[in-house]
Amino acid sequence: MALAAFRCLILFFCGVLTARAGAPTLLTFDGISYLSAVDAASHLGMRISYTNHGAPGSRPGVILYNQEHHTILGSESRECLIDGLRVFLGDPVISRTGRLYISFNDYSRRLTPHVAPQLCSSVPRLPHVIVIDPGHGGTDTGMANPRLGLREKVLTLDVARRLKAILETAGYKVVLTRDSDQFVELKLRAELANMVGADLFVSIHFNAGPPGDSRIHGTEIMTFPLAGQRSDQSWNDRINDKEAYAAPVNRFDMWSEILAGCIHRDVLAALGTEDRGQKTKHLGALRGLNCPAVLVESAFLSSDIEGGRVAQPAYRHRIAQSLATGISSYVRVIERLKPGAKQVSVQNIPPSEPARAAPTRP
Ligand SMILES: [Zn+2]
Repeated sequence: MALAAFRCLILFFCGVLTARAGAPTLLTFDGISYLSAVDAASHLGMRISYTNHGAPGSRPGVILYNQEHHTILGSESRECLIDGLRVFLGDPVISRTGRLYISFNDYSRRLTPHVAPQLCSSVPRLPHVIVIDPGHGGTDTGMANPRLGLREKVLTLDVARRLKAILETAGYKVVLTRDSDQFVELKLRAELANMVGADLFVSIHFNAGPPGDSRIHGTEIMTFPLAGQRSDQSWNDRINDKEAYAAPVNRFDMWSEILAGCIHRDVLAALGTEDRGQKTKHLGALRGLNCPAVLVESAFLSSDIEGGRVAQPAYRHRIAQSLATGISSYVRVIERLKPGAKQVSVQNIPPSEPARAAPTRP
């Protein structure tokens, strides 16, 4: 069903409630500060309706919406849909006495950047220096597909060089963390970016499923977990990897989130891949950065279908182009928030395509 028709159906059956204004009330559950979805909607300038359908995992949930944005939060789930894109929160949305609550961290640093970036503080300067990080290199070959003769370290460098050329044409200064088949420590990649004054850091990788599994496919976008929140993987492994102290890159959480959302949308639109979601991981290449940062896994090499596509130079160019489009979408957000700021010539990068309808779940 088309997203628009789906929304109408939801609103028809659920009835619409207007969010109430007022100061948010924080409640503590399991040692985590939460606020109600009603309060969250109110402070984000959104309306709210309740649904028994459509939330991730087919759970009861709420829909927060206004003219520009549409978010579905599912009860007892970390997965939400923001403007049709899958985003995995750091804490589950919980249900208490008939109300849904979102953790304050997720509300302020994950949801707000997507649906109300004007509420984010400390708007960074317009990007000029962009650091592109081709994953792996040298003795670290990364993922592989032996059937197709693919090695991740070769493909990430190829995409990074293509992206560098596109961004340089648009007027940016671009630095690669490696421009040959060499091993570079993760920490050094961040240090190099800081040394050249990076305004943005984009790490390029390809994914792979468990050995022998060629069925998994799709696109994932990673950011560094918020301080005090577990990484996405830790929920699957049932290991609490929460870190008590913020990493340097955590100073840019909200802007990394906006960057991730822009790249997420534009890569999916260009490649038509399955949306595996925005996730978090304690990534060594991102930890020490002094700028917003994301890691992009645009496709699975272990999938013979996706791997076969990535093997084609034209497809790798499409990946690079989609990353450039996502970066230019991010720049436009900053421009809107910093009126009058000196504009970098993003006109050489095509505008992003409209957001896709809600993707089907795997
Ligand atoms: Zn990798």
